[in-house]
Amino acid sequence: MAFNSSSASESELVRQLQQLTEAAKLAAAKAYAPYSKFTVGCALLSKSGKLYAGCNIENASYSVTLCAERVAASQAILNGDSDWDLLVVVSPQRVTMCGVCRQFLHEFSPGLRVWNGYLDRHDLENLDNETSAMETRGLVGPILLSDLLPTAMVLDIETSHRH
Ligand SMILES: [Zn+2]
Repeated sequence: MAFNSSSASESELVRQLQQLTEAAKLAAAKAYAPYSKFTVGCALLSKSGKLYAGCNIENASYSVTLCAERVAASQAILNGDSDWDLLVVVSPQRVTMCGVCRQFLHEFSPGLRVWNGYLDRHDLENLDNETSAMETRGLVGPILLSDLLPTAMVLDIETSHRH
């Protein structure tokens, strides 16, 4: 993604990324992560323009833990809003989405554009229109969800209902 020109769509994307990053950081502050202390926040923007935030929610039974991405996606689905455009995820280290979340989100929006950033870098607040700034200031993307999970499991609903 290049930000060298100043077209309206690029400045709109930067504005959206700033908004999503701020929402993701606020969400991370609400994470329930007493075991790992690894707080994650994310913000999902649907194609209809609505924003859904999520944080990770751990559990004493570790495998019950929910990732921030699935928390946000679940809220969107509950709102009947399952066609998504952008996802920003912030965490203490740059990590890419886990396999479970890749499959979960791919079910609805394989074309989702994913950005990752550090949670505790104040310079995330200083995103601007330059490619180098986007990279060095901690937010990296976009990566298409279909590239993160190129061989996702997809069922033909018609076929599965015949059995
Ligand atoms: Zn996950």
